[in-house]
Amino acid sequence: MAPEWDFIIVGGGASGLSLAYTLSISELAFNRVLIFEPETKIENDRTFSYWTTDQHEDPWDSILFKTWNACTFKPHQKSRFDISPFVYKTLRAADFYKFVKTQLQQDTRFVILQQAVSNIETHQEYGLVYSNGTPYKAQWVFNSAYRHQTIISSKPHLWQHFKGWSIKSTEPVFKLQNAPIFMDFTVDQKNDCRFMYVLPYSNHSALIEYTGFSAHTWDDAEYEDAIKAYISTLQISNYTIFEHESGKIPMSANAFKNPYGARVIPIGTAGGCTKMSSGYTFAFILKHSHQICNALLKGTTPKPINANGVMNGMIKHC
Ligand SMILES: Cc1cc2nc3c(=O)[nH]c(=O)nc-3n(C[C@H](O)[C@H](O)[C@H](O)COP(=O)(O)OP(=O)(O)OC[C@H]3O[C@@H](n4cnc5c(N)ncnc54)[C@H](O)[C@@H]3O)c2cc1C
Repeated sequence: MAPEWDFIIVGGGASGLSLAYTLSISELAFNRVLIFEPETKIENDRTFSYWTTDQHEDPWDSILFKTWNACTFKPHQKSRFDISPFVYKTLRAADFYKFVKTQLQQDTRFVILQQAVSNIETHQEYGLVYSNGTPYKAQWVFNSAYRHQTIISSKPHLWQHFKGWSIKSTEPVFKLQNAPIFMDFTVDQKNDCRFMYVLPYSNHSALIEYTGFSAHTWDDAEYEDAIKAYISTLQISNYTIFEHESGKIPMSANAFKNPYGARVIPIGTAGGCTKMSSGYTFAFILKHSHQICNALLKGTTPKPINANGVMNGMIKHC
């Protein structure tokens, strides 16, 4: 007989940990939650930046890396836009993982297994998750392990793909800036859609990221040469790279198919949390975690979210 859990979360990344955290602080009555995550998740493998209002509070506000209340768009002539009442927040993934895991370690209802899941099945009243040949049974399974095959390709599909360097420069070049540069389209478009994104962390440091929207990713050199060229346009001659990140996110208006069935709820990018126009996902992940907890509190079926506003289309194939 498979051991029984209230909830199993597949993937301890952004959405898995966000859901676990939201469950841990909710009023929901449950006994045991099992999280499967094959990686250690201690490195800063990404930065989560997201929009919110200045009134809104998140539990991890105390560990935010940086917040801004102004931004810049290029080639727009106006150099700085006040974005109040909105705030742009940046949270380092490593800080987020640590924050949530510290909370979960103090809560005996949660167990994290550093193992990959090999298969998921749905049954009438429960889901079954297989890892290392062992079945684990839960009332609900929340799955963030993304499989590209789950996208039904009826409409064109693009990737948002990027590489970013966090740099320290000897010159205080970001001093006057102190506002993110969103989507600097002044870079050569090369018949694609490409932009630079700059998050100034301090007078001397910033994340500089080169992003493309296209059907295929590029060779490493293509991203790196563009970042180097861009850095030189910022009059930076002397710098060191202290961190880097890269990734690709599906930018799709297509429906996502849930291959596993009704007791398995997709979350995160796999669950439609990525907004196809911008790639922003983190804020939708937070919202979805709350929606799931509220549904469970009401005794109703948790549903996937759709950041693109075509809710029913997104998961009608469940
Ligand atoms: C470099 C980078 C920067 C980003 N920056 C931003 C940003 O600034 N703002 C924003 O809104 N969005 C951003 N995103 C998009 C999005 O917020 C992130 O991709 C986010 O991590 C998505 O959360 P997720 O839970 O869907 O996926 P993940 O965080 O990737 O979590 C999925 C987890 O599942 C695990 N997993 C995979 N297969 C299995 C398996 N078989 N069994 C068990 N576990 C498995 C993986 O190891 C992973 O940890 C960024 C993405 C990347 C890649």
